[in-house]
Amino acid sequence: MKERLQTEASSVLDRFPPAPRGPWSGVADADWNDWRWQFRHRIKTAEALAEVVRLTADEARAIREGADRFRLAVTPYYAALMDPDDPACPIRRQGVPGTGELAISPFEMEDPLAEERDMRAPGVTHRYPDRVLFYVSPTCAMYCRHCTRKRKVSRSDTAMTDAEIGQGIAYVRAHPEVRDIVISGGDPLTLDDDRVERIVARLRAIPHVEILRIGTRVPVTLPQRITPGLVARLRAYQPLYVNTHFNHPRECTREAFQACALLADAGFPLGNQMVLLRGVNDDPAVVKALNHRLLMMRVKPYYIYLCDMAQGISHFRTTLAKGLEILESLRGWTSGLAVPYLVVDAPGGGGKIPILPEYVVRREGNRVVLRNYQHREFVYPEPD
Ligand SMILES: *Cc1c(COP(=O)(O)O)cnc(C)c1O
Ligand code: SF4
Repeated sequence: MKERLQTEASSVLDRFPPAPRGPWSGVADADWNDWRWQFRHRIKTAEALAEVVRLTADEARAIREGADRFRLAVTPYYAALMDPDDPACPIRRQGVPGTGELAISPFEMEDPLAEERDMRAPGVTHRYPDRVLFYVSPTCAMYCRHCTRKRKVSRSDTAMTDAEIGQGIAYVRAHPEVRDIVISGGDPLTLDDDRVERIVARLRAIPHVEILRIGTRVPVTLPQRITPGLVARLRAYQPLYVNTHFNHPRECTREAFQACALLADAGFPLGNQMVLLRGVNDDPAVVKALNHRLLMMRVKPYYIYLCDMAQGISHFRTTLAKGLEILESLRGWTSGLAVPYLVVDAPGGGGKIPILPEYVVRREGNRVVLRNYQHREFVYPEPD
């Protein structure tokens, strides 16, 4: 499979240079490309991190004082993408704690999306009529500093036992209206192949289940996890959509490209859910570059989320106006495929609400005055 992938994609692959290896340049390829090696060698302390980046006093303090709130873990692969000298590096801001995490504002919430309130069985949040979110693991390859599920992600006490997973599956089986399941966490692909396959197979066996989705950030933070073996096992359960979470064009490395190519070649439709983060990607040029690279990787930009009101992430938040500015910079100016939906996941559990620029300027009787992406006006006469 690897050989075929390289011949098919070789000319575009050249535009995706391999990620740097930073202090790990002496590590054997076989280790570096092994997801278990990457996982075992994750950076979890300030001391280990200081060997990769020049930690600022603020970062060191945030790690020290925030340690019991939300764990630190970064794969060597992702750490090597960080600028060792620049604390404002967009990769570094996602993986290295900042003092912004220590400030909990009164309006921030532990469970901003009320996922626990809408939980009908262990791990199963059933909010929309025909689909559910199924939390299967608290573990992630990297703990994103902007994570909206800090209340349970990274905490071993929220791990799901086989019995609990069985209860979640039983809930879906008992609810014929559920035709779409988002398997999430944490990151489902931090489970081993057997466990992932067992969950997917049992859900696929339910007659009313039409589509499955896996929400995973491993293509970004641990692309080595997408192995030919995993892909070969999961492709038996299509249609299985894989939604991932790239936030910056620098994350679109050769390794990430190859992980996505393995999935796309095996027929998994790929989507991206970006979070709009201050200091990371709150810039139209960055989002456009990211979406262009994603499309070359056969990943369709699906959502841009406004940052949630979760605790300790308010330093990442931006305004709605910034999100709209980014959308306006995309629609019409570049491929429609590169334009995702901008959504606010409503605080309190109202679900995802799309935010759109206004293209209807005014109505004059049955004449609707519209404006295009260049702000030129056009009339569309409506039928009587
Ligand atoms: C996001 C989400 C889904 C899936 O929503 P889509 O808009 O279909 O991608 C389902 N359930 C919950 C609770 C969610 O937050
Ligand atoms: S991968 Fe997703 S669930 Fe895990 S820490 Fe990052 S944002 Fe949170």
